[in-house]
Amino acid sequence: MRNPSSTIVAISTPPGKGGVAVIRLSGADAFAIADRVFIPRGKAPLSARPAREMVFGDILYDGERIDDGLAVRFVAPGSFTGEDTVEVSCHGGLLVTRSVLEAFLAAGATMADRGEFTRRAFINGKITLTDAEAIGDLLEAKSLSAVRLASGASRDKLTKALDDIRYDLISLMSSIYARIDYPDEDLGDFTDAESLSILEGVRAKVEKLLSTYKTGRAIREGIRTVIAGKPNVGKSSLYNAISGEDYAIVTDIEGTTRDVLERTVPFGKVTLSLLDTAGLRETDDPVEKIGVSRSREKVGEAELLLAVFDASRPLDKEDYELIEMAKQLPCPTICVINKVDMQTFVDINEFSAHFEHVVTLSAKSGDIDALREMVEQLFLSEELVIGEDAILSSSRQVGALLHVREFLDGAISAYRAGLYADCASSDVELAIGALGEVDGKSVSDEVVADIFSKFCVGK
Ligand code: GDP
Repeated sequence: MRNPSSTIVAISTPPGKGGVAVIRLSGADAFAIADRVFIPRGKAPLSARPAREMVFGDILYDGERIDDGLAVRFVAPGSFTGEDTVEVSCHGGLLVTRSVLEAFLAAGATMADRGEFTRRAFINGKITLTDAEAIGDLLEAKSLSAVRLASGASRDKLTKALDDIRYDLISLMSSIYARIDYPDEDLGDFTDAESLSILEGVRAKVEKLLSTYKTGRAIREGIRTVIAGKPNVGKSSLYNAISGEDYAIVTDIEGTTRDVLERTVPFGKVTLSLLDTAGLRETDDPVEKIGVSRSREKVGEAELLLAVFDASRPLDKEDYELIEMAKQLPCPTICVINKVDMQTFVDINEFSAHFEHVVTLSAKSGDIDALREMVEQLFLSEELVIGEDAILSSSRQVGALLHVREFLDGAISAYRAGLYADCASSDVELAIGALGEVDGKSVSDEVVADIFSKFCVGK
């Protein structure tokens, strides 16, 4: 990483032609550098103007006026990065934007690395790691639910949930230390029984948070969904109806879809990572053979199987094979009975005997609301309000939280086995450390401060 004291600059708006482009400057020399480039019209320099006030002025490059625009300054720590920051809005042409950037570089700024503004915000304690991840998600969000999940309100709830857990563990830790170091002084707040019950309570909170990942993942990363069925049942049509575009080729000739198409699409409140597979059938065509074998592989990786059947034809051997295959899969299957706009030759009750989840629809008509509702029901927790509740959305957070749970289990076992508190203490400490990995908050200082404050009470 570059010198953290350098003043960085970058174009913050996307490349291309636009009405306005924003160039952001952050670091200790931001105001001095801005004064060399941005000259307010007929008034004091930007550095002498009140913070957070928009100022109109000229933008100079090597003394030559290249554009005019607006500038605003934010004084540390009251900025996104926590450093002195200047934002300049200039005209959004490709060349003019680049020239303004170069003017700042020539005046002493350094080109920012990817994500460096956000990284500085994290280093300066303005945001947690989970916040930083959510900001990244917000930029990538493909659905309104994903926007809600990454929103400030949702982030705050996750931060609070983690802080609650941390608070409990730190209180417990300081109590354990006090009892170990001063066994005769009755300093510790909690008896062993109370400590055990705190640990069990914390474990339940961790467990609850972990259970939200199914929802977070369904919204953010996407459910790996395989559409399977014999040729011509309407898999491509369903794929197109879900993805909202004629993405897969739809024809009447059997075996047209020769390979696996993958696409991430918002589907109601969830996101599907949708795989349209070649018809799962025996074939002599060598190209199609490859497609068929890839389809089988993909089916094995699925988190949701949409098993499609054609209502306009009686079930045959291939359909029964699909039914059997679906039963072997560990993931949930939704049985989709397609083409119900035509005369039907299948008995829906027969499907209900094999599948827990059955929908009838017409992919051709595009009315797939029933399927959408069923997928939402399967993957979104009814108890969670997206955008309002703490929801884990990255596998990294889950990995770190699983470590927390592991250490909690160690501490709980120690207490249950009647071991001395110091046997549990190292696991509690490790749990606090692992929690710090979830949101990037270092905790050792907090532990120290909390212990110190306890020792000072009347002692
Ligand atoms: P795939 O081979 O399983 O991908 O099937 P396709 O999506 O290519 O569809 C095969 C044929 O069935 C096409 O002619 C579609 O227009 C037709 N088809 C698909 N879904 C429906 C439906 O819901 N109703 C009717 N009537 N025809 C459909």
